[in-house]
Amino acid sequence: MTELYEILAKAVGSENIEKDADMSKEVSFRAGGKADILVRPQNREQLIEVLSLLSKEDVNHLVMGNGSNLLIKDGGYRGVVVKISSAAFSDFEILKEEKGYVYVRVGAGMLMGVLARKLADNSLAGFEFASGIPGSLGGAVFMNAGAYDGEIKNIIVSAEVIDKDGTEIKTVDAKDMELSYRHSIFHNTGDVIISAELKFKQGNKEEIEAKMAELGKRRNEKQPVNYPSAGSFFKRPEGYFAGKLVQDAGLKGYTVGGAQVSELHSGFVINIGGATASDIVAVMKHCQKEVYDKFGVNLEPEVRILGED
Ligand SMILES: Cc1cc2nc3c(=O)[nH]c(=O)nc-3n(C[C@H](O)[C@H](O)[C@H](O)COP(=O)(O)OP(=O)(O)OC[C@H]3O[C@@H](n4cnc5c(N)ncnc54)[C@H](O)[C@@H]3O)c2cc1C
Repeated sequence: MTELYEILAKAVGSENIEKDADMSKEVSFRAGGKADILVRPQNREQLIEVLSLLSKEDVNHLVMGNGSNLLIKDGGYRGVVVKISSAAFSDFEILKEEKGYVYVRVGAGMLMGVLARKLADNSLAGFEFASGIPGSLGGAVFMNAGAYDGEIKNIIVSAEVIDKDGTEIKTVDAKDMELSYRHSIFHNTGDVIISAELKFKQGNKEEIEAKMAELGKRRNEKQPVNYPSAGSFFKRPEGYFAGKLVQDAGLKGYTVGGAQVSELHSGFVINIGGATASDIVAVMKHCQKEVYDKFGVNLEPEVRILGED
């Protein structure tokens, strides 16, 4: 790893790489283990170089955005985490206006809240649903993130990606992304999203802001926003609501160590202080077992859980 660290440090600069990186600082759960190496490429050339080095050296790697849907287990991640940071990948460009739509290209690192603000400033409507999602655009495309009857699928035109080996930059059209509930083709390909083209309608700035404020208020009232979490922990099973199943199984407030099923919203597992990834996983497993035993429904985590026990 020392040799690899030095090669990567040369590619990105020693200030953009960390050994034994504490991933609890990088994920919204504020829990979990360390990564052997965390690297933050500062532009697409560095990203290509890092990916091709990792491919050449045959090193396990994981790409992350803002860490709001990610948990690294306490034993840590053996390999390299490549962070698409908001500081480096937040370009924003209005491309064209055509047939009633305005087309915009946005860097994958841009945070959803920042993008929502920029679009509102440009009176572009259609992104209000996403303004409170605390991830990056790349993570949102990967997850086909959605809220309040909106989802990325409705506004994406294409994504610019680098293949996982860093050999080719290509454009993937939305129709080829297999976007469905919290899923995209990128779960299978390992492509790294570097930017996306999105389309919006010209709207009214005050109306856009009012909608964002209203959805923000709903979020703050209904979700445990004061505790670290990764949002809804489980995917919505067909025909059910995960939170309702967990609540009906009597698990509201169920606690292991520092991890708890939120009292406010049973779909959230929260870190009430000092949670380990094992605490969070234990709460998850207990919820899955109880819900299955009581209702015969399988709860699948929406949160991406990686690394060693
Ligand atoms: C309080 C709270 C509320 C939330 N509310 C919602 C909600 O309403 N709706 C919703 O859908 N989600 C919600 N989430 C979950 C999360 O914000 C989304 O899934 C978000 O899209 C994840 O983006 P991220 O940048 O944080 O991704 P990360 O957590 O960093 O990564 C998630 C996955 O995406 C992959 N990935 C990230 N960036 C890239 C990239 N550039 N290229 C390729 N792969 C990439 C990673 O490998 C990983 O598998 C919430 C989370 C929290 C903490």
